[in-house]
Amino acid sequence: DTPRPSNFLRQIIESDLDRGTHAARLWGGTPGDARHHSQGSVDAARIRTRFPPEPNGYLHVGHAKSICVNFGLARDYAGTCHLRFDDTNPEKEDQEFVDGIIDAVHWLGFDWKDPEGGRENLYWASNYFDFMYRAAEYLIERGLAYVDEQSPEEMRANRGDFSRPGVNSPFRERSAAENLARFREMKEGRLPDGAAVLRAKIDMASPNINLRDPAIYRIKHAEHHNTGNQWCIYPMYTYAHPIEDALEHITHSICTLEFEDQRPFYDWLLDHLREGGLIAAPQPRQYEFARLNLTYVVTSKRKLKHLVDSGTVSGWDDPRMPTIVGLRRRGFTPESIRDFCERIGVTKDYAWIDYALLEACLREDLEARAHRAMVVLDPLKLELTNWAEVFGSDAHLEACELPALPHAREGEAVPTRHLKLGREVWIEREDFAEEPPKGYKRLFPGNRVRLKGGYVIECTGCEKDEAGHVTRVLATVVGGTKSGTPGADSVKVKAAITWVGAADAVAAEVRLYDRLFTDPQPDSGGKDYLALLNPDSLKVARAWVEPSLAAAQAGDKFQFERFGYFVADCADHSGERLVFNRITGLKDSWGK
Ligand code: ATP
Ligand code: MG
Ligand code: MG
Repeated sequence: DTPRPSNFLRQIIESDLDRGTHAARLWGGTPGDARHHSQGSVDAARIRTRFPPEPNGYLHVGHAKSICVNFGLARDYAGTCHLRFDDTNPEKEDQEFVDGIIDAVHWLGFDWKDPEGGRENLYWASNYFDFMYRAAEYLIERGLAYVDEQSPEEMRANRGDFSRPGVNSPFRERSAAENLARFREMKEGRLPDGAAVLRAKIDMASPNINLRDPAIYRIKHAEHHNTGNQWCIYPMYTYAHPIEDALEHITHSICTLEFEDQRPFYDWLLDHLREGGLIAAPQPRQYEFARLNLTYVVTSKRKLKHLVDSGTVSGWDDPRMPTIVGLRRRGFTPESIRDFCERIGVTKDYAWIDYALLEACLREDLEARAHRAMVVLDPLKLELTNWAEVFGSDAHLEACELPALPHAREGEAVPTRHLKLGREVWIEREDFAEEPPKGYKRLFPGNRVRLKGGYVIECTGCEKDEAGHVTRVLATVVGGTKSGTPGADSVKVKAAITWVGAADAVAAEVRLYDRLFTDPQPDSGGKDYLALLNPDSLKVARAWVEPSLAAAQAGDKFQFERFGYFVADCADHSGERLVFNRITGLKDSWGK
């Protein structure tokens, strides 16, 4: 393994480990702790990170960055990363998404076990609802929270904005006893949705609007997948999240920069809960990094869902989707995505990352290991008219060999593929021109080319239908010029073209995917992403492919010579029906 480049998070962690910042942690006795005392102590000096998705959709490439950061740091510093489902929102969760998230993290190559002992660190935020409620009562008792019965509109108006301070709520100075009584009424279901919220009592004049008495509990008469109808009040994310981190003894709570302004509240809350003895010291600390912005993709869950629901794409796993299931079906490897996340690094600077970088990582990963194959995507029949004269019979098939990998690994033999050349061959329609444009080096009457890995041939003409379309190309084979034999270089040609022998060609559907959007930033600056859809993001070719591909298993990846990298489709490919997806071309074609 090459050493990983440092970044600000690594520096913070290394300094914390040096100073033993987390070693003093008191394990065990915290009320509501996800772990039970009987599970024993944990090495207190280890770092703990977490990845906290809301199970309300499929994960996308942006989440992959967060997964690589959090699980990657835990791996590199012998710590642990928790997978925590942030299910504080009662109505949105779905088992399909929970399963999808678990799959995605595993597929990317990570898990949530402790490095020793193998404890599973998979948690649910909703398991802490009791603790969160008690913590809220504690804040009320200490005069740090109050029940506000202003209407949502009043509350919004009184919050103020960047140019003016907020206005105190008329309910702000109620006594702790009255607040407690009102909060219990909320909890007991005696108030309808929206009638009141519990707010932290901080500072309505703070320049940080997040500190202007943020709401921490709201009323929502809704059934929850885990707690059923036990609750009709639910904690707000900004309140729940620091508590979840503290109860799980997270050391470094790493999130995206949008949460930077929430950090003062994160600390305010945990400072008070620690003073009250509700959580243990040391507290988790929040650190922020810049989210991933990738060109040509949309990562908003709502917008991705719309693409699925409207039938614009075939599903969450459509190979054009930036979801992890989509990237996987498209043919991206976990290695290439991890490498991509490593290369873009972790910073605090907003930047657009070029989609081409993701593809470059894939090419680099597959270059050495994807077997080569020849396919014809736009087939035109070629007939070698002197076949019987050269080989004794029109039925003769000439065995040809090509390397399956151009460079074998050290100590390994170069794997080979076996092809059969016969009188009839499929070639690419664009490899023949009756009247060649200037500089054209492929087949035209009178010109010679090599059939890659086979013989030199000379074009003699073509046949056409009534409409004038070329239906067949005619050529003669030049004997004694077979690739790999001493005579191969006796005839010089300027081009070698790809081909598939008609006698043993296998039919396949090849899905030529392209970017889903035509604009590099389809989701910024108020643009209408739906107006920027690429009408040519999928073209389907009825192809002929070389016989070695008949054995391809779903998920197998190849380099189709001259066309790029392809994968046997996970959903639709089978031994009876070959379906390949183009992952990416051989060279970067983005932004051109
Ligand atoms: P929602 O709009 O539903 O809140 P979300 O993208 O924030 O969607 P979460 O499930 O809350 O989804 O995200 C889980 C984690 O992934 C969060 O910690 C979030 O910061 C991180 N994350 C989300 N998008 C990106 C991104 N583009 N780059 C890096 N991290 C991201
Ligand atoms: Mg979120
Ligand atoms: Mg979000």
